[in-house]
Amino acid sequence: MAILILPLINDPLSKIEQRYLSKVVKQDNCWSWNGFVDKKGYARLAHVGKRGQSVFAHRISYALHFGIEPGDFMVCHKCDNPICTNPNHLFLGTAQDNSNDMVSKGRSPCRPIFGELNPRSILTKEEARYIKLASMIRMSNKELGKLFNVHHSTVSMIKLGKSWADIEI
Ligand SMILES: [Zn+2]
Repeated sequence: MAILILPLINDPLSKIEQRYLSKVVKQDNCWSWNGFVDKKGYARLAHVGKRGQSVFAHRISYALHFGIEPGDFMVCHKCDNPICTNPNHLFLGTAQDNSNDMVSKGRSPCRPIFGELNPRSILTKEEARYIKLASMIRMSNKELGKLFNVHHSTVSMIKLGKSWADIEI
């Protein structure tokens, strides 16, 4: 399960960003969408995928806002509003139960992998590895700490190799 980290600014991403920004309607709470909406109510942006397929707009919003391509993880809604792409309403998660018919309806309950919604207060190896990788992009210890719900000094210790030193990236 890989998390890919995109550089915060590169040409293709900024083109996607422009297209995303031309469709999104930012509001105080949930954000609305002026573009294509699929049968399940999800906002989508066309011609983004490698084979020209459309991609969920909330995944694009997450990648643009946090500088993280969600890869194999799901981007889930705290607000249960599939059209919404407000990054403050989104979190990375995994499907709680793949056999659950909620999944086939596209309304899968998500298990958060980290952050404030995760009851665990300690980092997993995968999260620590991610922090190491994230040190290559311009994301501050404070921002990373907020994302993983740990103190920025914990992030600093990992980046400096003073904790989780055995992790290879
Ligand atoms: Zn929302």
